[in-house]
Amino acid sequence: MKRSKKAIVSLLGVLAAEGVIVFLLTCIWTGNIMSGGNTAAMAPSAAPAQQERSVSPPGTALAKATAVPSYEGKKIKNIFKACKKTLVLVNEKEKLKTSYHPSLIPICQGRLQASEYLYDSLAQMLADARDEGYQFYIASAYRSRDKQQRLVDDGVRKRMRRGASYDEAIEKTYNEIMPAGHSEHETGLALDILCSGNMQMDISQKEEPGNKWLCKNCHKYGFILRYPKSKEHITNITYEPWHFRYVGERAANYMRENNMTLEEFWDNME
Ligand SMILES: [Zn+2]
Repeated sequence: MKRSKKAIVSLLGVLAAEGVIVFLLTCIWTGNIMSGGNTAAMAPSAAPAQQERSVSPPGTALAKATAVPSYEGKKIKNIFKACKKTLVLVNEKEKLKTSYHPSLIPICQGRLQASEYLYDSLAQMLADARDEGYQFYIASAYRSRDKQQRLVDDGVRKRMRRGASYDEAIEKTYNEIMPAGHSEHETGLALDILCSGNMQMDISQKEEPGNKWLCKNCHKYGFILRYPKSKEHITNITYEPWHFRYVGERAANYMRENNMTLEEFWDNME
C-alpha cells in the first residue's frame, strides 16, 4: 500500500510539464501566507506529489463508522449546523456536487488557492508553528475538477504508453489518484503540508517534528488529520500524515476528543 516510485516519477512529469518544479525549488513555505516569507530556505530533495490514492480498489465499500450514543448524534448535528460550510464530506463514495463552488482566495503568494474559510486559521496555525521553530511548505491546496481529471488522464495515458490496456490503466491510476469529483482538494478545504527540509509526500513526514506538532495541535485551529493510520478501514485511504482538512474549530475539537474521522462524524449525525 505504499506510494509507488512510479507514481512519484509520473508526478514529476506532470509537475515539470506545468512548470511547477520551478516553484518547488524556489518557493519554500516559511509560515507566512500573507507575504510568502523568505524564499531562501533549503531546497527540496524531491518534488511532492499532488494527489491522494485510495487504499483499496475503487468500489470497495467503506467500513461502517463506529456508532456513538444518540445524544451525541444531536450534539454532532448542532456542530454541523454551526460549521456546515466547512464540513462537506467528499470521499470515494461521496462525490462533490457540481453546484459546489468553493470560495477561494490566493495563498502562498498566489501560488495556490484555498477556501477563504480556512485562511485566518491557517495563518495563525503556521505563525504559532513558526514560533515553535517549525516551517512548512504547502504542496497542494485547491484543485479544480478539471485539474483532477487531467491527473487521472495523464496517469492513464502514461500506463497505456507502457502497454497497459485501458481497463488496466484506469484501475491502476485510480489506486493512486482519486477520480474527478472525489478529491477533497476540490473543496479548497484540504491542504497537503510538508515539513521544510523534507519534500517527500510520503510516510517519512510522520517522523518530522513539524508534522508531529501539526498533528498534535491542528484541531485548535480547526484542522484535522484527514486520513489517520488507525482509521484506514473507515476512510479507505492510506495513512497520509501530510493531508490536513479544515472543518472548523468546534468540529475539529469534537472529532479530536472522540477520535473521529469526518466519515464517522457524518455517520453519527442525527
Ligand atoms: Zn491531499
